[in-house]
Amino acid sequence: MLAAMSTPPFRPSSQATAVSRDRDDACPGALRLHTADDGALARIRIPGGVLRVDQAEALGRAARELGDGELHLTSRGNVQLRGLKSGCGRELADLLTAIGLLPSWRHERVRNVVASPLSGLDGRGFADVRPWLRALDELVCASEIAAGLSGRFLFALDDGRGDVAGLGADVTLLAAPDGGAWLRVGGSDSVARVSSEDAPGAAVLAAEVFLETSGGQVWRVGELPGRADELVHEVARRLRTRHAELAPLWSVTSEPSLGAVTAPDGTTSLSVLAPLGRVTATQWAEMRTVASGELRLTPWRGVILPAVPLDRLPDLDAVGLITDSASPWFGVGACIGRPGCATSRADVRTDAAAALAAGGGLPVYWSGCERRCGRPRGDHVDVLAVPDGGYQISVVRDGHGRATSTTDNPSTLAADLAAARHA
Ligand code: SF4
Repeated sequence: MLAAMSTPPFRPSSQATAVSRDRDDACPGALRLHTADDGALARIRIPGGVLRVDQAEALGRAARELGDGELHLTSRGNVQLRGLKSGCGRELADLLTAIGLLPSWRHERVRNVVASPLSGLDGRGFADVRPWLRALDELVCASEIAAGLSGRFLFALDDGRGDVAGLGADVTLLAAPDGGAWLRVGGSDSVARVSSEDAPGAAVLAAEVFLETSGGQVWRVGELPGRADELVHEVARRLRTRHAELAPLWSVTSEPSLGAVTAPDGTTSLSVLAPLGRVTATQWAEMRTVASGELRLTPWRGVILPAVPLDRLPDLDAVGLITDSASPWFGVGACIGRPGCATSRADVRTDAAAALAAGGGLPVYWSGCERRCGRPRGDHVDVLAVPDGGYQISVVRDGHGRATSTTDNPSTLAADLAAARHA
């Protein structure tokens, strides 16, 4: 373990680098709506998934009055509003700006930050990452260079427990046991050592170095083959700090358990999931009612309600939220499919609901086409709609898929899936 170096607080360079691209970044945002088959779609970045109750209330109102009424949680802890009526873009932008969800219109699509959702709530981890989260968001919004990032670029802030460090972010900060932090760029084999105070600035510097190095020609670090370690070394050089070999913790991912999470002082927080990441208006309203000031959306399409007593859990269960990992919905995900996506070969969400079975095992993810939007990174069962009808089921381990069956018989699908989840 390297000792933390004493350096003045780092601020990213204010000298802008021109970013040129020969193709458009089509990633949707809150200002750039995407046209889908069920109406316009807005993706609203929620750094760290952290929402105040008043912001949650306004988002719910926007979904009800402008969209289909539901809030769709993403695998980055963001929110999508779907079925938006035409011409509502300005109204939505004004509403989001008024509640502080659009602090910089120029940066609205690049504020992609996942953070350990239980940080500071359960006594685990080596740091509370929320100060990093606030500082990182402010620095990103203040950086002219960072405005050139794509909407796909991702920052991860891990409090040391290893829950989001393995989510494949472009820049990751991992809290170290001695109070410092490690900075990783993409899938680099080395990490740079930074002090906790310098960590958010170092993360923004890493993003800026990526843009300089790539010349703005690629969207993500992984699209620069073999260059991630060079980026780490360059960041370390500019910070006058050192780099070291990667620690094993980086490959770990784990989502919060469901139900009550208890802090060392006995304070409970509640952890729930929404079936397929779709939160109905009723479910959203109930979570706002139960919340004690804040909601945290997780990269696993769940919600943490900090500092809420255990006796409120039945209220969340009563509106159909998943509060127990014994639920047949636990571990089941799906892309939007038909009717929202014209590319889809099937109504995957309806089919997923019809094939539910208790028993756990590997997570399962349903996709309407080979793009597999939102699929999980780790081992899972892949259920893909095939051209002639039906689904191909594959077990994905260590990034490699092995097809186990293809069926167009709904009555055998649940049994085939259950077998694959335990293969
Ligand atoms: S995986 Fe295919 S069908 Fe599903 S949402 Fe993405 S593009 Fe549409």
